Amino acid sequence: MKIAVLRERFEGESRVAATPETIAKYIALGAEVAVEKGAGEASRLSDDDFQQAGATIGATAAATLKGADIVLCVRRPAADELGGVNKGALLVGALDPYGNEQDVAALAKAGVAAMSMEFMPRITRAQVMDILSSQANLAGYQAVIEASKVFDRAMPMMMTAAGTVRPAKAFVMGAGVAGLQAIATAKRLGAVVSATDVRAAAGEQVESLGAKFIMTEALKDASGTGGYARELTKDEQAAQAELVAGHISKQDIVVTTALIPGRPAPKLVTKAMVESMAPGSVIVDLAAERGGNVELTQPGKVITHDGVTIIGYTNLAGHIPTTASQLYARNLLAFITTLIDAKEKKLAVNWDDELVKATVLTRDGAVVHSAFAAPKTDTAGDTEAKPAPAKKPAAKKPATRKPSAGKATASQTSASKTATAPKADAGQAPEAKPAPRKTAARKPAAKAAAAEAGPQADASATAPAAKAAAAEKPAAKKPAARKPAAKKPAARKPAANKPAAPEGGDK
Ligand code: NAD
Repeated sequence: MKIAVLRERFEGESRVAATPETIAKYIALGAEVAVEKGAGEASRLSDDDFQQAGATIGATAAATLKGADIVLCVRRPAADELGGVNKGALLVGALDPYGNEQDVAALAKAGVAAMSMEFMPRITRAQVMDILSSQANLAGYQAVIEASKVFDRAMPMMMTAAGTVRPAKAFVMGAGVAGLQAIATAKRLGAVVSATDVRAAAGEQVESLGAKFIMTEALKDASGTGGYARELTKDEQAAQAELVAGHISKQDIVVTTALIPGRPAPKLVTKAMVESMAPGSVIVDLAAERGGNVELTQPGKVITHDGVTIIGYTNLAGHIPTTASQLYARNLLAFITTLIDAKEKKLAVNWDDELVKATVLTRDGAVVHSAFAAPKTDTAGDTEAKPAPAKKPAAKKPATRKPSAGKATASQTSASKTATAPKADAGQAPEAKPAPRKTAARKPAAKAAAAEAGPQADASATAPAAKAAAAEKPAAKKPAARKPAAKKPAARKPAANKPAAPEGGDK
């Protein structure tokens, strides 16, 4: 039984689907593992590391794939890149099938059994295999790190001989996996953090992290099925827009993560709201690959509007590839382990297992997943009802796959949430109340810090801070001096281990 690990060809993809740790475990399960030369380079995993774990290094993709029973990948390879694998070989990765139905059909034609990890059910048994969670968690963390790089002030309250500097205010919109990690990270960096979500249950989680939960009476609970949010009604959207408009103008850093299964990302931050923020503020839009929560977001790009930087990276987990690969590889190992008979040292897929049924897209030359399979026609000509194939809105494809002809796709955080075709106007916020006018300057640092640190202050906060009321003063009362224009954010030196990104663009 041979497992092949490919070097990723998708532009800017820095992760790899196996690590020396997981390779050693595959070998213990009776597999031989071949890794394509250079596959781990961008994650700081050398060919030597893989060899020491027991893998062989394939000089080319073809050499690596020859005779493979399982192919592990991060992004979906093109069907014509899979020549030489055994008939019926498993292809396992974040295959991002929505909007890429032709590529899925080509995989079927190539005779591989393609398994899309994004479709892993969110059940207890499969938590260890949940790539959406492992990568969203890292993306939430990285969003705050990226914001801090661009933000030209300190995050924590600084009490120095030269005076006190107030802590940054961070606002997280959407408190799911990514949002909660963004809250925790911003807290650790010393920011005063608030967050909002439309699921009431999220409020408790936000508060347990020491952040303030922002919610209106009009928006009591918009929980949908499976722990996800439902789309808001027009009235609810208006109430939320009013809430956000009143809050966002006072924030320094905003991280948006709001998603609704099967819909485009809801637009939560209008142009007017961005313009209400002080120059130097930073927004990181984690929903960029689904169109963005921010009206001005350009997927894959960093832009500045009116002094506010808007980061629209679409693969934030890929910005910390070493950790992202480590967790992703473990997710895959956990799943592959269920597909192998360790005693017999061979593949033993139980096609009736719910994890397999949920993830398998193609098998025996056909597309078999219910969301993509062509409707069956019986002898009488009737058609069996199937769920409508979902399409991702075209505009959300930020990058171009190189060098294959495959389309650029969203990263693996999206596919399982797009099970129905989006309506043209879905997720659009109604006309928001005009955002409060921008009052660029802040409260005098020391007082503001004490007043706002409140119960959220970190260990460096002082007693007066803890006693002070946490309530924020309306922006309009703040002094009007505008901070100097924010630094241009775009060009940053890529880290040595990271592939170069186009200026201002995503990696
Ligand atoms: P997600 O990526 O679908 O959405 C992110 C967040 O955006 C959600 O919290 C959602 O409520 C919120 N949101 C949607 N519309 C919004 C709006 N208009 N304004 C503000 N916020 C909005 O969510 P997720 O991170 O995948 O998590 C969804 C749920 O699934 C959570 O309850 C999470 O705890 C749960 N979960 C369960 C498992 C498991 O059981 N294995 C794994 C991961 C997550």
